[in-house]
Amino acid sequence: MKSAFAVALQQLNDIVPFLEKDYPDKKKFKKAISLLKKPQNIISKKLTIRLDNGKKKGFMAFRSQHNDARGPFKGGIRFHPNVSEDEIKALSMWMTWKCAVVGLPYGGAKGGVIVDPKKLSKTELERLSKAYAEFISPHIGPWVDVPAPDVNTNEQIMAWMLDAYEKKLGQLSPAAFTGKPIALGGSLGRTEATGRGGVYVLQSYVKEKGLKPGKMTVAIQGFGNVGFWFAKLAQEAGFKVVAISDSSGGIYAVKGLNLNKIAKAKGRYGSFAEAAKKEKFKFISNEDLLSLNVDILVPAALEGAIDNKNAKSIKAKVIIEMANGPVTPEAEKTLLKKGVVVLPDILCNAGGVAVSYFEWVQNLHGYQWTEKKVNSELKKKMNLAYKEMSEVIREKKVSFHQAAYLLAVKRVFDALIFRERV
Ligand code: NAD
Repeated sequence: MKSAFAVALQQLNDIVPFLEKDYPDKKKFKKAISLLKKPQNIISKKLTIRLDNGKKKGFMAFRSQHNDARGPFKGGIRFHPNVSEDEIKALSMWMTWKCAVVGLPYGGAKGGVIVDPKKLSKTELERLSKAYAEFISPHIGPWVDVPAPDVNTNEQIMAWMLDAYEKKLGQLSPAAFTGKPIALGGSLGRTEATGRGGVYVLQSYVKEKGLKPGKMTVAIQGFGNVGFWFAKLAQEAGFKVVAISDSSGGIYAVKGLNLNKIAKAKGRYGSFAEAAKKEKFKFISNEDLLSLNVDILVPAALEGAIDNKNAKSIKAKVIIEMANGPVTPEAEKTLLKKGVVVLPDILCNAGGVAVSYFEWVQNLHGYQWTEKKVNSELKKKMNLAYKEMSEVIREKKVSFHQAAYLLAVKRVFDALIFRERV
């Protein structure tokens, strides 16, 4: 399997032939491409913290700042045993494209620590979070780099990090982090924003193709923040959600799922496998879920969930990439040949960073928007980005993925050229 950064480079290389024609100055074009192939800065450090038993332990930590031509770097911090410099570099590049495709005035960044947070106590987690914030503090700030939560980090961790950062700075600076608790300047609507943004993309697609939501069935892999909210809001929008899974497997109901009942059972029994046994839900494997005969398949859990091995068995007509990189580039080629539409992650899951941007805007103004205002601004951003992507498809005869990349990379290119960085 290719490394995440190798995939990110391949995606960039794939659109070079389409972009080249728009830039007559070949020298500048080549310089810009080579500049975008690596992050502007990468910092790393072994963070040593005191454990509750008095011993010390070191954890490797990274922050990759890919490109800030369009605005301050922006991107989450993940705590996971599989974090690597390669992965953080790839994720930071994807953040640059994601922010550009939805027109946010940001560049891309990502941070991470190699740690299994489940093995730390709350106080150890607090010490690690604060150590991370102190490590990156000279390199961040509202107009430099604005971190946020990612896998295994949450609003409490952002609160600890903000506090440690502000202590170092000697003043309050709420716009330095997003994904904060409401009490510390977080935005209303942030929790459901990624799922909501994905549903807006789906609605734009359905409207463009003249389809009817009520007749369309949906299967979702993942029951975390993204999967749950996508499912709930898709149902509210009239789609029929027939299957959803967690890491233990999926629950299927041909007439549509009762999500509240499933969420309650998951809370009570821990996993869908157990919940299905106790509550007599119809249980299917994750592989079965991916190959269900549904209209829309939503991978909302893992990177690389749809690969060359299972792509052939997919029967859905549309895939909404809600996780980061859930369809490998090879699998996408197989799917496109079969006529399956793949709506790209850099657009579909950009709702989270869009509302992070609204949080930053609110903090800079010292003002709080209503949830209604947040959702309506999100809808405007997502719908406009979809429309712009569609125009590129019509003009250049490319796939959805290529169109989103073309749109994003072109925006970053233009900023680089105006800044005379190439
Ligand atoms: P989460 O940790 O809340 O949930 C992940 C879900 O995936 C859990 O239900 C887990 O059981 C399930 N899962 C894990 N392994 C699985 C497997 N093998 N098969 C099926 N399900 C499995 O994470 P999240 O915040 O919902 O993020 C999901 C994805 O979306 C990640 O790729 C993340 O990077 C991406 N993403 C999240 C956000 C956000 O705002 N949370 C924004 C952009 C992208």
